[in-house]
Amino acid sequence: MSSNSDLLKRRQDAIPAGLGTMHSIFCERALNAELWDVEGNRFIDFAAGIAVLNTGHLHPRVKAAVSSELEKMSHVCFQVTPYERYVELAERLNALVPGNTPKKTLLLSTGAEAVENAVKIARAHTGRSAVVAFSGGFHGRTLFALALTGKVVPYKAGFGPLSADVFHAPYPIDYHGMSVDAALSALDRLFASDVDPARVAAMIVEPVLGEGGFYPAPPEFLQALRRVCDQHGIALIIDEIQTGFARTGRTFAIEYAGIEPDLMTLAKSLAGGFPLSAVTGKATIMDGPKPGGLGGTYAGSPISCAAALAAIDVMEEEKLAERALRLGDLIAKRIGALSEEPAGSSIGDIRHLGAMAAMELVTDRDTREPDAELTRAIVQKAAAKGLILLSCGVRGNVVRFLPPLTASDELVNEGLDILRESLLELRA
Ligand code: PMP
Repeated sequence: MSSNSDLLKRRQDAIPAGLGTMHSIFCERALNAELWDVEGNRFIDFAAGIAVLNTGHLHPRVKAAVSSELEKMSHVCFQVTPYERYVELAERLNALVPGNTPKKTLLLSTGAEAVENAVKIARAHTGRSAVVAFSGGFHGRTLFALALTGKVVPYKAGFGPLSADVFHAPYPIDYHGMSVDAALSALDRLFASDVDPARVAAMIVEPVLGEGGFYPAPPEFLQALRRVCDQHGIALIIDEIQTGFARTGRTFAIEYAGIEPDLMTLAKSLAGGFPLSAVTGKATIMDGPKPGGLGGTYAGSPISCAAALAAIDVMEEEKLAERALRLGDLIAKRIGALSEEPAGSSIGDIRHLGAMAAMELVTDRDTREPDAELTRAIVQKAAAKGLILLSCGVRGNVVRFLPPLTASDELVNEGLDILRESLLELRA
């Protein structure tokens, strides 16, 4: 039997240091909201492969769809001999993304690839080059997506020069003194001082800042961005890669703002654990690039398309959006109670949109100084006790909760018990 420590040594010798790993637990198998390591230890999974498994590990419907597709083909490349599953999924996503304007969908493999292609499409459509993103946002690690990402260490440091014509505006975070009005006037200033809005092809925004700390954007901010983009002919790209597919209590988080995106980027929980991403957008914009300008060898693999169609069925039939609302309430209530105990005095803020939930840890509730050290300690302590957690936040002081939406209340409560015990031990 392999041990975690043997595998860690082999991993360190064989794999570059730049690929960071949160835990030194080598997974052997996983099912729904639990996983087991190579030593037979069981863990409750509140990471879900970073928001990929809203339908849980190996949902039987997803597994059956993939097995059945494997009886037919694994890969042919849609650009060589197309196949029905891709078309079927595109039709499904076109109907699912909010707004009445006719839509088209391009399939790709990763989130970053979806982001890069959304920008290419917006540039081809508008004939402009500049892109506006938001500080604290995360849009991927490939070189252009990285330029859009709004966090320096560890993502951007050492990888420059980054692409020109990318501008960042502040994201509204009330907890840190950035109101919607202040964020919008900073955007206005950016247009006056740094980039002519007539040169801006696209604006990309997450409806809830994901890696940046799980801050939901107030609906009025997103509505204002819609107005600004309409006024200047800018394509509004809503990045739902982390928020999508029922996580926030709606199929897409942008539904809370009631606006129609020009383009939407999708990945992660789209395909229930298989690599797939998409750009879905207004047909006239999507048709901007000339034939051959878009594509990729593996983009829209038949296996991933079959998985995505099954995952969307599960999301709808098992009413995962409603489930996300209930799970989010449960998590917020339990963390709220914990924050009133002496051990929870470092919990400065608790926030959630559906089951996209987080607690922000501070050294002092009044000054709101980030406590990244405690955050790291909680994540490690909880793992030692059988709970997989992830941190996030530009200052690394946010613990995020992303259990599969198919997890039972019992399992989520068991995970939250472990979290409480971890805090009690660290604060003792
Ligand atoms: N956009 C958002 C909002 C994300 O959360 C992520 C991944 N965390 C990405 C883009 C990049 O996705 P990928 O890692 O699949 O390239």
